[in-house]
Amino acid sequence: MHCPFCGTQDTKVIDSRLVADGASVRRRRECNHCKERFTTFETAELIMPRVIKTDGSREPFNEDKLRNGLLRALEKRPVSLELMEQAINKIKSSIRATGEREITSNFIGGLVMENLKQIDKVAYVRFASVYRSFEDIREFGEEIARLND
Ligand SMILES: [Zn+2]
Repeated sequence: MHCPFCGTQDTKVIDSRLVADGASVRRRRECNHCKERFTTFETAELIMPRVIKTDGSREPFNEDKLRNGLLRALEKRPVSLELMEQAINKIKSSIRATGEREITSNFIGGLVMENLKQIDKVAYVRFASVYRSFEDIREFGEEIARLND
């Protein structure tokens, strides 16, 4: 692993801990040359199914896209990044658990809504309003009313 500051290969691990429910390892490293410290994350690479979009085209599963969607919904909400990463891991596990080689983008959207609902109701409504593009304001109101159940 090259040092991102000076480029030397001479770095060492000074701390290692499990994060995101043990799904990844966070390592603190120190460069033996310039003494700068940096963090790396290690996560098992598992094959994700391909995503069938609403227009029928296929694309590889894109974790950044998923993360950006969550970040947008959670903007300025009192939710930690760690909680968000946990949600991402849960969503990925659910996707993998289907055992399918292809899944629809709607299926992913549903998982995101399910998870956001548990984390933050405002974020859930934000995501749902964009994702499901509610037909009218009444439908949107009904969805919000259901949140109090
Ligand atoms: Zn260095």
